[in-house]
Amino acid sequence: MLSARGLSVRYGRSVHALSDVDLEVEADGVLAVLGGNGAGKSTLLRAVSGTLPLHRGAVSAGEIVFDGNRIDKLDPALIVRAGVVAVPEGRQVFARMTVEENLRAGGLGARSAEVRTAARERIRTLFPVLDERSGQRAGLLSGGEQQMLAIGRALMSGPKLLLLDEPSLGLAPQMVGRIARIIREIHSQGTAVVLVEQNATMALQVADHAVVLEVGRVALSGPAAELAASDDVQRLYLGGH
Ligand code: ATP
Repeated sequence: MLSARGLSVRYGRSVHALSDVDLEVEADGVLAVLGGNGAGKSTLLRAVSGTLPLHRGAVSAGEIVFDGNRIDKLDPALIVRAGVVAVPEGRQVFARMTVEENLRAGGLGARSAEVRTAARERIRTLFPVLDERSGQRAGLLSGGEQQMLAIGRALMSGPKLLLLDEPSLGLAPQMVGRIARIIREIHSQGTAVVLVEQNATMALQVADHAVVLEVGRVALSGPAAELAASDDVQRLYLGGH
């Protein structure tokens, strides 16, 4: 469904944030992208969603193909229209708008009113708490609720592929577990997911496949269960020895 081939991204002339990255996301898959600070995880999501900072960041080599079409030269709005939607790091809900207004804003990217209506129903069952809070300002929600709202807002356009940047960041363990279950649920309803995480334990439980980035290159890739069992991943990312 999504593939990157030989993808390289630079910021200005000197920062090579990604070098020759190959990866594949299956239509029915969850791909975890792991790696330490500055490994290039967010850059990868920005490249896929077309939101690299315009004045500095650019795909300098390679290509990104989604559903058979190249998307690496498209405007972000057209990438959303094609079915790829990102939830950025730090959630970035519209704090002064209500929960419902945030969801409506997400629906602006939908292909049709039918898609929007179906998505609103889906969000009702996935996140009952958002209905209870629908008239409240988003900035007053807890961190976990804001994460749910950010995911809900992204789902409003009916994406085929959801890109999540560190959804567990700053959340209590119980809430991380809830978000993990929600990601599995979204996947089982037919939406593919790319999950960027520092929390490798959570990500490898949720994902089918995983890649590990190290200074902009793919250091390891394979089925999530295999990576979870590997000595390198155990030592570097799962706190094992
Ligand atoms: P983190 O988990 O800390 O967010 P990351 O794996 O998401 O890390 P990126 O944010 O993609 O990593 O950063 C990859 C590299 O690109 C780093 O060396 C970073 O300093 C650099 N970088 C990121 N954004 C910019 C930018 N706007 N301008 C210049 N360099 C940047």
